[in-house]
Amino acid sequence: MKWQVGAVTVTKIVELEVTGGSRFILPQATPEAIMPIGWLQPDFADERGRLRMSIHALVVETPSRRIIVDTCLGNDKENRRIPTWNKLQTRFMADLATAGYPRETIDTVICTHLHVDHVGWNTMLIEGRWVPTFPNARYLVGRVEFAHWTNGHEREDMRAVLADSVMPVWDAGLVDLVETDHRICDEVSLVPTLGHTPGHVSVRITSQGEEALITGDFMHHPCQIARPDWSSTADSDPAEAQLTRGRMLTHLANAPILVIGTHFAGRTAGRIARDGGAFRLE
Ligand SMILES: [Zn+2]
Repeated sequence: MKWQVGAVTVTKIVELEVTGGSRFILPQATPEAIMPIGWLQPDFADERGRLRMSIHALVVETPSRRIIVDTCLGNDKENRRIPTWNKLQTRFMADLATAGYPRETIDTVICTHLHVDHVGWNTMLIEGRWVPTFPNARYLVGRVEFAHWTNGHEREDMRAVLADSVMPVWDAGLVDLVETDHRICDEVSLVPTLGHTPGHVSVRITSQGEEALITGDFMHHPCQIARPDWSSTADSDPAEAQLTRGRMLTHLANAPILVIGTHFAGRTAGRIARDGGAFRLE
């Protein structure tokens, strides 16, 4: 799946898609609450009101850069809190190459934040060691985000994620710590969307008068477009996350901006429109 934003191409590389089993992350999104939001079907919910979610990476190719935004769960990882995320063996790396982006050709890795499903393919297991998957890339990590997770705030499962997916890249000297409004190139810059984590960012793409926004996790699922007050159990500051969603949705509804969801399944992207007192994805 691809989108064109002026001279920039965005390509979705799927690692996992699941239906149901996502309620732990959005407890208010019961089937009874989801069924009345008709536009969620069929891409984002099934006919029984169960959420569809996706874990995918987005390759952003500009005239000068080849960027991968968020690196999913990765293969071979252990000590993950979600049992099915352990020891994965997906075709993600082969699919990335088949799409035209062999890992050696990626020059920039952006992690919107340092949660487990956004840093996994930062590294891969080679002869028992975690080595950087993208050896020719600079890995951009938020300065605030990195400080938060390495300052002793981390939970036990986060320690495993840091140890196998973040620190090997840091130790290899491939990390650049950046601010939440960092500009990567003419077409791509970071946008602070705090609340899900203390240093969370989204990614803005502008080219030839067109604009797109890669959400990261300030929204986990499109049901939060209809219900911005539904916070995720993974939000570190639910009140700030809700303020961010309201502010961003209002901004996005007033402009022709293609919104590309980091966990949105199916067609994954669309434009935000006002819908009564809330919003919908068109
Ligand atoms: Zn996520």
